[in-house]
Amino acid sequence: MTAKNYESNGCAYCSGKGYFQLLLGGSETCTCCSGSGQKKE
Ligand SMILES: [Zn+2]
Repeated sequence: MTAKNYESNGCAYCSGKGYFQLLLGGSETCTCCSGSGQKKE
């Protein structure tokens, strides 16, 4: 059985952006990747 990877290149929380776009305006640095956008192994 082949496991399909849904992981994209980059942090899964912020989609590799390194930050979250807030609905109220502005942005917040992703705490998961510390704003780097890189996926943690
Ligand atoms: Zn992130």
